[in-house]
Amino acid sequence: MNQRVFSGMRPTGKLHLGHMAGALINWVKLQDDHECYYSIVDWHALMSDYADSSRLRDNCREILLDWLAVGLDPEKCTIFVQSHVLQHAELSLALSMVTPLGWLERCPTYKEQILNLQNKDLSTYAFLGYPVLMAADILLYKAGQVPVGVDQSAHLELSRELARRFNQFFGEVFPEPQALLTPNPKMPGTDGRKMSKSYGNSLNIADEPKELWEKLRPMVTDPARYRRSDPGDPDKCPVWDLHRFFNQDLEERKELEQGCRNAGIGCVDCKKKLFVHVEKMMVPIQERRRAFAAREETLTDILRHGADRARGTAAATMEEVYRAIGFYR
Ligand code: SF4
Repeated sequence: MNQRVFSGMRPTGKLHLGHMAGALINWVKLQDDHECYYSIVDWHALMSDYADSSRLRDNCREILLDWLAVGLDPEKCTIFVQSHVLQHAELSLALSMVTPLGWLERCPTYKEQILNLQNKDLSTYAFLGYPVLMAADILLYKAGQVPVGVDQSAHLELSRELARRFNQFFGEVFPEPQALLTPNPKMPGTDGRKMSKSYGNSLNIADEPKELWEKLRPMVTDPARYRRSDPGDPDKCPVWDLHRFFNQDLEERKELEQGCRNAGIGCVDCKKKLFVHVEKMMVPIQERRRAFAAREETLTDILRHGADRARGTAAATMEEVYRAIGFYR
């Protein structure tokens, strides 16, 4: 099994606990026994934010801080900014030569993003080609595995099809990346919907404990618990999803569950218990974040070394691509 892994995140602002639980914690585990390339995909961010790119630079820095804080280690994995490695754009252009338009127009991610980002004009050439750049990101490193949550494995399909199609025209260059299914614990936002910056319901990795508590305290609970004396059902409560992730004290969880069902405890008590566990997990992360934030040169070095390393692999792939195509070299 090809142990090389690629994954990326768009730098569109501070990351929240949904990113941490659904992706970053898995990335941290993978770096121990896989060759991992983790990219801050700024070209992808520009596709949706081209009308105002003023935050792009700061957002790259924020996301880097979040990654380092959660435990990505530049000694164990390659961390870099996509636009620092020019070969992403080159391979995207090469792949676009063999990409049928119909594949892009039918792509479920394309339709989904258009719906999600209705406040932005995404009727651009680049945005339609989003999956081609995504395929280039993965194929450039000949990544055998791409970590995805169970509900996202379809997103990888186009990259696999593009690898096949390129290989059909020009010979075997690319392996077909496989989905590396990773646990994706439910992490609802404070209003009970999916945690998302655009809903304004997120708990951010960088939020100080005081801020986290201010967001948690009014968080929605099982609506059946209208009064303190009303019994509830943890399975219908978004706060309980957070308990499942943060609170590994199973004995305590059992007591709280009972207390909820027989109205023995109030929701604020339950949230206070949760907050103890949130704080325990997040305080060391935030301390690391602050320490890295004070070391500007270290951040620049991490990205410079990461880009150098990524470029080495990317340049070798592009050499193969150009030879396979038959360009005059
Ligand atoms: Fe949710 Fe806890 Fe309130 Fe039950 S007691 S409804 S689990 S916050």
